[in-house]
Amino acid sequence: MKLVRLCAILTLGVALAFAIAEAGEPKKSRCCAKAEKEGKTCDHVCCIEAAKDDKNCEKCGGKN
Ligand SMILES: [Zn+2]
Ligand SMILES: [Zn+2]
Repeated sequence: MKLVRLCAILTLGVALAFAIAEAGEPKKSRCCAKAEKEGKTCDHVCCIEAAKDDKNCEKCGGKN
């Protein structure tokens, strides 16, 4: 069963990617990273408040 093997490898790959992402901190929240990519700053109130303290918004998944 080739497909089953492929699924197992994919699952393992995703788990590994998550582990690597978790280890790399601090991390910008997804909304802020997206806004930054577009040359803007995130307009979420929670993110603006966090940015004032030079931090990433933890409510939106960021890490400090
Ligand atoms: Zn944001
Ligand atoms: Zn936020």
